[in-house]
Amino acid sequence: MSALYGTYARSDLAFEQGKGMRLYDQHGRQYLDFYSGIAVNALGHGDPHIITALKSATEKVWHTSNVFTIPEQERLGQRLVDATFADAVFFTNSGAEALECAIKTARHYYWAKGEVNRYEIIAFTGSFHGRTLGTIAAGGNPSYLEGFGPAMPGFKHTAPGDLDAAKALIGPQTCAILIETVQGEGGVTAMTSDFMQGLRALCDKHDLLLILDEVQCGYGRTGRFFAFEWSGITPDIVAVAKAVGGGFPLGACLAKSDVAASMVPGTHGSTYGGNPLATAVGNAVLDRILAPGFIDHVNQMGRKLAWHLQQLAQKYPDYVLELRGKGLLAGIKIAPPVRDFVARLRDDHHMLAIGAGDNVLRLIPPLIVTEVEIEEAIGKLSAAFDAIKAETASVSAVE
Ligand SMILES: *Cc1c(COP(=O)(O)O)cnc(C)c1O
Repeated sequence: MSALYGTYARSDLAFEQGKGMRLYDQHGRQYLDFYSGIAVNALGHGDPHIITALKSATEKVWHTSNVFTIPEQERLGQRLVDATFADAVFFTNSGAEALECAIKTARHYYWAKGEVNRYEIIAFTGSFHGRTLGTIAAGGNPSYLEGFGPAMPGFKHTAPGDLDAAKALIGPQTCAILIETVQGEGGVTAMTSDFMQGLRALCDKHDLLLILDEVQCGYGRTGRFFAFEWSGITPDIVAVAKAVGGGFPLGACLAKSDVAASMVPGTHGSTYGGNPLATAVGNAVLDRILAPGFIDHVNQMGRKLAWHLQQLAQKYPDYVLELRGKGLLAGIKIAPPVRDFVARLRDDHHMLAIGAGDNVLRLIPPLIVTEVEIEEAIGKLSAAFDAIKAETASVSAVE
């Protein structure tokens, strides 16, 4: 019996080593990683550049406090500002905390302007923003809210993709619209450029802030630094996390300067957020992500993956029902139950992938994936479908 909370239906598999696209279990067996610890290990496993950065950081000062200047944090913040739409950055340890900062920033922006009743945020069904009390209210998924008391007020939900429905929710209390540019957990649904542009226009027209949750889809994964770049819009606040530390817990809330201006001393804080170890690693991760050609590589691999998945869909029309996603955040809506299929891939074909809502198989490899490994993954998916086909045939033969 494990001493841990039973919040996960854990597999017995324990990985001892990782290198690049591969993980190795306690028996030395090798697994092809199309899971990346849920889109976290953007540089794969054991990247020498981030190992060197962490090692050298451990020999300096591990932790001080955000009341002192943390040079690595200043540097990472400045680099993110230089590379993106943002003018100001708040560092966190997780995605949920990056969203909490985004929500607080939006509410406080209007409060500081004397519009104290502007606290309501329009969010979308099928979204996932984290597991804190604030972010489960923002996500609005009833199964995550049940049993945890009254949901935090201030969120209204509608289906993504329907601009008129979003518009209908705007009232005098609305302060922002919050959306995942590509929904991850909910079923790997990429918002269209039209919809993103429509939301931006609604925000402009009604003086609302546009908050994007790019915790999973940002930081290069779709073949652009941010997924919203595909639609040509500029948001007001963006939350990132997963890939930011490449496996070291690190997230960030990025904002325009006027939006962040009211977040003065005393309004928000974090003991650990952006500490010296985390931001030393964060800078090393960013070295790699911003290196010339890195995001182009992701874009190319995203296209290759999409092409190979189309071939797979043609070969297995009974099993592959729909292809979704963007770049290296790919989803396959499959016919067999996705939970069983993920276990089958893992146990029989030594490939790691993850499920998402709506019976979607999510493929989120490290961003360093090459076409060789994409072909290998496609081979494993084919083998898994073939095995299901053979099992179904033998069952019906017996009947
Ligand atoms: C994972 C995720 C979060 C929450 O991040 P944590 O680090 O688990 O708190 C929020 N939003 C999206 C889109 C995510 O994928």
